[in-house]
Amino acid sequence: MHEGSLHCSVNDILSEGFPALSIRMADPTAKRARHTKNSSMHWIWSVAAALTANLVRTHMTRRAPTLYLSFDDGPHPEHTPRLLDLLRQHDAKACFFLIGDQVLLYPEVVRRILAEGHSIGNHSMRHPRMPKLPAHAQLADIAEADAVMRPFNGRERQLFRPPNGRATAAMIVDSLRNRRPLVLWNVDSRDFELTGAQVVERMERVPLRGGDIVLFHDDTGTSAVALAELLPRWRNAGFSFAAL
Ligand SMILES: [Zn+2]
Repeated sequence: MHEGSLHCSVNDILSEGFPALSIRMADPTAKRARHTKNSSMHWIWSVAAALTANLVRTHMTRRAPTLYLSFDDGPHPEHTPRLLDLLRQHDAKACFFLIGDQVLLYPEVVRRILAEGHSIGNHSMRHPRMPKLPAHAQLADIAEADAVMRPFNGRERQLFRPPNGRATAAMIVDSLRNRRPLVLWNVDSRDFELTGAQVVERMERVPLRGGDIVLFHDDTGTSAVALAELLPRWRNAGFSFAAL
């Protein structure tokens, strides 16, 4: 993560503007009547600050031909190990955005993910529809997942990817306050609605660039079917694969 002059702007917000911001942004779903013009200004400001501070990431640096594969909604007792076998076979590292409830069920899969050099991220505790929850409930769910994942890698807070990719005001504020990167993606495999063969066909039409963050899922076997075809092709095209 690059920290230059932009680092200062975040520090300024944290030290000066943040208390007012966090109070006004405490419940983004609260009745509009209570809001002032300032709250929407703060919202725009906080999103802009998070983006410029590189705290909201849709891709990584473009300087190397590296792809950042990411897998949401695991760990799964069958599909995740199958995917890990495939990644190992192609010397590829990736990031797994885990659901806390699944971590509690399959801790041995999480240990294997980390032991094989991949990274993990927080994808919430129960994958709720976050925008429908009050801010405090959103943050409680995220914190619970952090607590569940902490023993595995010792991190106080993990990288965070919102369920359904829906970043809310509360999440942006949390990201700023805790300097926790909020990771989205810029290439969607759409493996949640396609077959493995269709994902291959789709991804063959997407022009990939170094630094792309590619979204897959490991709660079904689709990604492994598609990646068995795609990984060797991408490797031949000169890409390597790193964990976030
Ligand atoms: Zn998800």
